[in-house]
Amino acid sequence: MRGQTPTADDIRRWDAEHVWHPFTQMREYLAAEPLVVERAEGNYLIDDRGRRLFDGTSALWCNLLGHRVPEIDAAVAEQLGRFAHTTLLGTTHPAVAELARRLVEIAPSGLNHVFFSDNGATAVEAALKMAFQYRLLTQGKAAADDAVYLSLGNAYHGDTLGAAAVGGVELFHDIFRPILLPSLKTPSPYCYRCPIGKTPADCSIDCADELEVALTRAAGRVCAVIIEPGVQAAAGMLTLPQGFLTRAADACRRHGALLILDEVATGFGRTGTMFACQREGVVPDLMCVAKGLTGGYLPVAATLASDRIYEAFLGRYDEYRHFFHGHTYTGNALGCAAALATLGLLADGTIIGAVEHKAGVLREALVPLAGHKHVGDIRQAGVMCGIELVADRATKAPFTPGDRHGYHLCLALRDRGIFLRPLGDVIVLMPPLSSSDTELQHLAASVHAALVERFGA
Ligand code: PMP
Repeated sequence: MRGQTPTADDIRRWDAEHVWHPFTQMREYLAAEPLVVERAEGNYLIDDRGRRLFDGTSALWCNLLGHRVPEIDAAVAEQLGRFAHTTLLGTTHPAVAELARRLVEIAPSGLNHVFFSDNGATAVEAALKMAFQYRLLTQGKAAADDAVYLSLGNAYHGDTLGAAAVGGVELFHDIFRPILLPSLKTPSPYCYRCPIGKTPADCSIDCADELEVALTRAAGRVCAVIIEPGVQAAAGMLTLPQGFLTRAADACRRHGALLILDEVATGFGRTGTMFACQREGVVPDLMCVAKGLTGGYLPVAATLASDRIYEAFLGRYDEYRHFFHGHTYTGNALGCAAALATLGLLADGTIIGAVEHKAGVLREALVPLAGHKHVGDIRQAGVMCGIELVADRATKAPFTPGDRHGYHLCLALRDRGIFLRPLGDVIVLMPPLSSSDTELQHLAASVHAALVERFGA
């Protein structure tokens, strides 16, 4: 039973004593002033001291259209008046069926089957397991026993063991390597620090050749290649060169490997098209979506599959061809209602159509930062942006991690009414699609001011 309404100090104390925050050194967290969000309105968080902060992270990349969006609020409330949740194991409901239909309509053509789950990592787990079982069903046990996944250096696909196995961010994944399934890796298209030593002048997207070499070397053992299309987001907003995806998709086709595209971060307009793969007209075999699907309201994710994959799983019950995988909250009705309302707001194309313009405003507003002595690289795809800070621009030498420049810079931005969360020394900007031109300009100017305050002009 809940007693008296807790005071703001109770909340701060209980948070400090009991809440273990993700991806957070708790000793560092406890030493700083907590940001206690009490309410949110539009693109702003309102804390327990009444401060309004522009959320430049979109709630860690999932909020698309701001908070308290009347249409999404109403859709969730309306669904709540019917029921909140029931199982998708053998039953269905209107919101999930309509959402599946809508997703198929907006996805690259041919992805006609939608497997729901709860978050980005689970959408990836489902795709990886589908790819494996597809191989077992179509090529037999010997081929399945031999199967491996191929992924990119610097990839991030989530934190569950399967998703982490195809991850390539040293800091997040190397600790767990001993308990991760072995997987093959091919170099990341990290152009600022090209892992294969190319420069913009002599680059012909040679990392795509490397991917093909890895497939050739694996001699048919790769059951799936998984890629974040457009941007390797969690590695620090590494933007993929145009053409990489097309070449990767062609290589997969030639070598009989399935292509899984992880649109968890890039999906729903972030790069200026509904899905980033649509910029190159690439159609994967499996596609993972999450984050923005519900406008950032509720945890719903989906793995979309082609007819070819879905049909391989059909058979008599006792052939046991069905997909042995699922989660309790699969197809959660409140989440589906939020997703339908979100997709409804995106339907006429106005919001996503404006992303190109907003990206231009942000790009322009970031120009003054490019000359700063500690800004090594500014990368941007649509409204996804990373500003990589370095100790020395000439040598690209990074700062000592313990200096925590990215962290302190973002902390200082709170006093300027901005909430950001860095990835190491990459300042990440991922404002909601609902940001105005003025808000984007203010965001960039605030980061610039905080940079100058910390390091001088
Ligand atoms: N894939 C990508 C590309 C992501 O950026 C993320 C989250 N940052 C995930 C998967 C994992 O999503 P979740 O945190 O919802 O599990």
